[in-house]
Amino acid sequence: MTEGSFDVVVVGAGPAGLSAALNLARARRRVLVLDSNRPRNAATLKSHGYLSRDGISPLELRKLGREELEAYPEASYEKIAVSTIERSEDGFVVTAGAKSFLARTVLIATGLTEVMPVLPSLRTFYGTSVHSCMECDAYEYADRPIALIGETDDLAFRATLLSQWSSDLIVFTNGVAEISAADETALAARGVTVERRPVADLAGDRTGLTGVTLSDGETIPREGAFMRPVYAPKLDYAAGLELHVDADGCLVTDGSTRTSVPGVYAAGDSTSPGPQQLIVAAGAGGRAAAIINRDLLGI
Ligand SMILES: Cc1cc2nc3c(=O)[nH]c(=O)nc-3n(C[C@H](O)[C@H](O)[C@H](O)COP(=O)(O)OP(=O)(O)OC[C@H]3O[C@@H](n4cnc5c(N)ncnc54)[C@H](O)[C@@H]3O)c2cc1C
Repeated sequence: MTEGSFDVVVVGAGPAGLSAALNLARARRRVLVLDSNRPRNAATLKSHGYLSRDGISPLELRKLGREELEAYPEASYEKIAVSTIERSEDGFVVTAGAKSFLARTVLIATGLTEVMPVLPSLRTFYGTSVHSCMECDAYEYADRPIALIGETDDLAFRATLLSQWSSDLIVFTNGVAEISAADETALAARGVTVERRPVADLAGDRTGLTGVTLSDGETIPREGAFMRPVYAPKLDYAAGLELHVDADGCLVTDGSTRTSVPGVYAAGDSTSPGPQQLIVAAGAGGRAAAIINRDLLGI
C-alpha cells in the first residue's frame, strides 16, 4: 500500500532539496520532500555568503524555504527519514518509516556527514569559533591568529587558501598529515608555520577558542580554528540503486544532475566535496529542477 504517487520525490530539505522542490512545484510537478530534519550546519548561529541573507541563522533560512515551498498546492513535505529507494515498474518506491511513496523520478539531496579529528572539546566550539568552511566563516578572522587542523594530505593546499584571510596561521598536522619540504617552504613565504606535534584538545572559555593544546601540554594561543574533516555522503538508503560514486563517496553526475541511474538525480553536497556552500547547493537544486522537468517531458 503506497501513500501516493509523485512526479518527483526529493530526499533532503537543505537548500539543494528545497530549491529543487520550489522550482518543480512552479513547473506544476507533483513533488514530495522527505526530510529527516538533521541539518549539518545546525551547529552554527549564522550563515554567511547567501545573497540577500548574509548572516542569517541556518534554521531560519530552512524555515523560510519550507514556507515558500508549502504555499504551493503541488508541493508536500514530510519530516521523516527515507530508509530505502527501490526501482519499480514505473519508476521508484521510496520507503520512509512505515510509509511508501511512488515516484517517477527521485532527487537525492541529503548532503554530507563530517568525520573530524578526535578532540574532546571540539563540539563546544564547533560552529562558533571552530569551523570547517573557509569561504563561509574565515572573513570574521581576517588577520587574526588562527589554526588549521587536519590529518589529510591536502593541508598545504588548504593552508594556502586560508592564508588569503590571515597569514597569522599555524597548520596542525596532528602528527598525521604529510606536508612536503617544498610545501612548507612555500607556506613559510606566506608567513604560515607548520606544527607536527599531536594535538590533544582545544582550549577556550566563554568567549570561545583561546588556543590549541598539544599532547606535551603546551597550549598555542589561537582565536579561531578551521578543521579539515573527511566528508562522507549519507547514501545508505540508496544502496540498492548501486549509484556510481567517486573516490570520496560523492555521487557522480553527468554535470546536469543526472546520476548513473536513469530517473535518479542528485544535487548539493552529496555530489561534490566542494565548494560546500548554501548558495551553491541551492543553485544546484534549481538546476536539477529544470533538468528533471525537461526529462519528464522527454525533450
Ligand atoms: C557548521 C557549518 C557551518 C556552515 N556555514 C555555512 C555558511 O555560513 N555559509 C554557507 O554558504 N554554507 C555553510 N555551510 C555549508 C552548508 O551548510 C552546506 O553546503 C549546505 O547545507 C548543503 O546543502 P544540501 O542541501 O546539499 O545539504 P544539507 O543542507 O546538508 O541538507 C541535507 C538534508 O538531508 C536530510 N537527510 C539526510 N539523510 C536523509 C534521509 N535518509 N532521509 C531524509 N532526509 C535525509 C538531512 O536531515 C538534511 O536536512 C556550513 C556547514 C557547516 C557544517
